[in-house]
Amino acid sequence: MSTVHNLGSSISYMFTTIEGGVSCPPYSEANLGFHVGDDPISVAENRQILSRKINTELVWMNQVHGCDIRVLTDLTLVEVPRDRYGFLTLDNVDGVMFDSDRIPATGIALAVMVADCVPVLIADVVTCRIAAVHMGRAGMSGRILHRAISMFLERGSNPANLRIIFGPHICSQCYEVPEELRAQMPVAARSYTRWGSPSVDIAGGGIAQVHELGCRAEVSNECTYENEHYFSHRRAMKEDHQTGRFAGVIYIKPNDTPVKY
Ligand SMILES: [Zn+2]
Repeated sequence: MSTVHNLGSSISYMFTTIEGGVSCPPYSEANLGFHVGDDPISVAENRQILSRKINTELVWMNQVHGCDIRVLTDLTLVEVPRDRYGFLTLDNVDGVMFDSDRIPATGIALAVMVADCVPVLIADVVTCRIAAVHMGRAGMSGRILHRAISMFLERGSNPANLRIIFGPHICSQCYEVPEELRAQMPVAARSYTRWGSPSVDIAGGGIAQVHELGCRAEVSNECTYENEHYFSHRRAMKEDHQTGRFAGVIYIKPNDTPVKY
């Protein structure tokens, strides 16, 4: 699993890789998705490894390529249901925001699972709100990222205080689609593969939404299709097998140092 980055203000984030778990091929090693055919015991162990690494329990999403975003507060966190394996899991959403003026004593971590789609993590480093967003082709054209950032701005966030981080995803030069599909995409997302056929630039479409709102994004240049450290749905389809999911994780924990009065 990969490096933890600290944003200050008790907020950290990371993107996992295929390494560091217990799953067998074609899910090796660190598949975090229960829905892709892997042994659930392995997936549960992989999730526990991740949770132990950041020393925080994670909130997962059963994503549906939609545009709904759930808001959690310290009061509703206990109302997040657990799935059959015991993990805190929100159904039918593609984004989750933690919005509270208090940080749970144990911290809170939000996870978005991907294998080519863009995992987007958002933090207001002053107010300490955080969000995790799943942005595939459908979510991007449905403007889920515009919605997510607007939720921060509506709550008073200054764009200068927002960190918007796009994790590893399939790049526009690899994401070939039929011309009819490309033509349906927002202009900023219409692109071509490196071999000259029509493609979709999911991140490009997302960046346009970020800029519309006067914000900036930090965009990973790692392509999941090209980089075998990440699961890639497209690469697995080409090779005719199943594959796993990696995650973008953003989390917030109370400062370890107690405040002295
Ligand atoms: Zn690529």
